[in-house]
Amino acid sequence: MKRNIGDLAIFGGSSAFLQPLYVGRPNIGDRSRFFDRVNWALDHQWLTNGGPLAREFEQRVAELAGVRYCVSTCNATVALQLLARATDLSGEVIMPSLTFPATAHAFRWLGLTPVFCDIDPSTGCLDPALVEAAITPRTSAIVPVHLWGRPCAVDELAKVAADHGVKLFYDAAHGLGCTSKGRPIGGFGQAEVFSFHATKVVNAFEGGAVVTDDEELASRIRAMHNFGFSQGRVSTEAGINGKMTEAAAAMGLTSLDAFEETVRQNEANYDGYQSELADLAGLKVVAFDPEERNNYHYLIVEVDAAETGVHRDLLGDVLRSENVVCQRYFSPGCHEMEPYRSERPVTLPHTERLAQKVLALPTGPTVSREDIRRVCDIVRLTVERGHEVTRRANERAESTAGGEGKGSK
Ligand SMILES: *Cc1c(COP(=O)(O)O)cnc(C)c1O
Repeated sequence: MKRNIGDLAIFGGSSAFLQPLYVGRPNIGDRSRFFDRVNWALDHQWLTNGGPLAREFEQRVAELAGVRYCVSTCNATVALQLLARATDLSGEVIMPSLTFPATAHAFRWLGLTPVFCDIDPSTGCLDPALVEAAITPRTSAIVPVHLWGRPCAVDELAKVAADHGVKLFYDAAHGLGCTSKGRPIGGFGQAEVFSFHATKVVNAFEGGAVVTDDEELASRIRAMHNFGFSQGRVSTEAGINGKMTEAAAAMGLTSLDAFEETVRQNEANYDGYQSELADLAGLKVVAFDPEERNNYHYLIVEVDAAETGVHRDLLGDVLRSENVVCQRYFSPGCHEMEPYRSERPVTLPHTERLAQKVLALPTGPTVSREDIRRVCDIVRLTVERGHEVTRRANERAESTAGGEGKGSK
């Protein structure tokens, strides 16, 4: 255990972890079941084109999301694009900036204009009043994100969308298995999109899905994701190739088999972080509503630099030098990245403030209670002695810069 800041690896101590501890390790499940499924696909020589594994995966995702229809896709980015095309979006799409850039890029790539709107700082999700204020005659849709799996203000957003006659789709890439007032994420708006990328709570190597209760929308997307074929090999409109392969579905099903156990372990990890860090001034673990179902896949802390004396970025550097590979999910916001920063400069005070504070720490079934205790020891030492850690890091930076200036090694 480290007692002094001189023990921190960033100041020359030895790293707390010999092996890196990562954010976003894949949740693989029972690999023998994965190989059985892949063998079945190989034996039957059915590798893609809506095979039985992809269909089974779709049924199980639809069940979990409490919806009637699910179309599996090669990833969530293409799923968002299929949704945009299948609903003939045009002009502007309102969305948060505090998200993975794919939310914006998916639409921008189709020639649509992402309009970034500020968040409610208490949830990190879009503020419905600000969404309403951002609507213009060119707005065709609102695409909120259930950030870190915490549900958006779904009732208020539904009202704004209905009042203004615009579409409402959710980027639910983080939301699988979560609820809002007991209703599963997946059933809100006209449709929602899940991601099954390797780092998500359920993974299909890469994968995505559109879920909806709208039969017509589901069948248009199903056709569009397979070259616009609706029956046989006759195309009824321009489509794309956005299908999920059988190998991906085999992984998705195997990862889904383990979902409940994954969530149980994530929740235990979350409880561990909460209790280790509960009384630490200036740092809070982003909380999940215990009345809802949550997947607890993202363990986010908010670091208040004014109160602790240490900025999130320095805490991140301290942790990485201990082999704790944390991530800034999601910082900077999309509006501060290209092409949006140059094309449409905006200021989003709540987003910018929160983006400066957030850090994702390692969780998931491969992270043990003992790992968490050791990560939290480092966090506690760094935050409790925040001013001193910052001063020392600055001195070290100055001496390095000075040394370079004099031409020494
Ligand atoms: C991961 C992610 C995506 C992109 O998903 P892919 O399946 O990798 O295309 C989109 N939005 C959010 C919020 C994400 O976290």
